[in-house]
Amino acid sequence: MTQARKTLLITGGSRGIGAATARLAARDGWNVMISYASAREAADAVVKDCRAAGAEAFATQADTGRTEDIERLFSEAKQRFGALDGLVNNAGVTSRSGRLEDASIATIQNIINVNVTGAILVARAAIPLMSRKHGARGGAIVNLSSAAATLGLGNVYVWYSASKGAIDSLTIGLGQELAADGIRVNAVAPGLIATDIHATTGDPDRANKIAHTVPLGRVGAPEEVADAILYLMSEKASYITGHVLRVGGGR
Ligand code: NAP
Repeated sequence: MTQARKTLLITGGSRGIGAATARLAARDGWNVMISYASAREAADAVVKDCRAAGAEAFATQADTGRTEDIERLFSEAKQRFGALDGLVNNAGVTSRSGRLEDASIATIQNIINVNVTGAILVARAAIPLMSRKHGARGGAIVNLSSAAATLGLGNVYVWYSASKGAIDSLTIGLGQELAADGIRVNAVAPGLIATDIHATTGDPDRANKIAHTVPLGRVGAPEEVADAILYLMSEKASYITGHVLRVGGGR
């Protein structure tokens, strides 16, 4: 029974959208490995829930802003699972909001390092464990973009928006490049979702304060993004690749 389960790696699976995706994936029949930056207890709680749903589940500390941590993460995934059927390239960060000239260079570099370089290197490391050209089974990658990529968000954090624009380009190009490897590559672009990420902007209540700008009139739940991710991972999306699916309530 356990052998029939597909294998999924989720970066940043300890909290927010990644944690909701891990829990849903376990219920949907996936075995799950999650990575986290520092929230070990939260990661352990996600693993416990996944196991209670019948999945094999593991958590590993790995900072996706560090090349050596990415290598260690995938080496462990190979050891645990042999091959991967899915990757949710989710780990991401924001920063305090403001104008570009007031943002520190270190802040901007950290966002680009984790959200762009990290995501590209995570996708790169997954290819040998997923590609039919490398003797694996093929599968699906879902990257986490953001509605910010097309909203721009001037005066909020244009450097974050730019990092997610890069994820859209990565998704389109890699969808083309990996089609013959048996790997579909898509992205979800969440709008305002109720997670801890907004606290980094300096205003933990930011999402609720601007919920009125969302046509559907509310902040979204992490589980609503997880549903879209699991759809794109599934065979129901077998003819969809290189696509960015917005989950933004119309925003
Ligand atoms: P979150 O609640 O802050 O959770 C972030 C997750 O990523 C945590 O598991 C965190 O680990 C992990 N993480 C952060 N930096 C990391 C690093 N350097 N290395 C490894 N793991 C790291 O965030 P979220 O709201 O779920 O966001 C998930 C993704 O969706 C991000 O890419 C974000 O940009 C995107 N997104 C979110 C929203 C939204 O409104 N929430 C909207 C659009 C896009 P720890 O728990 O150990 O810190």
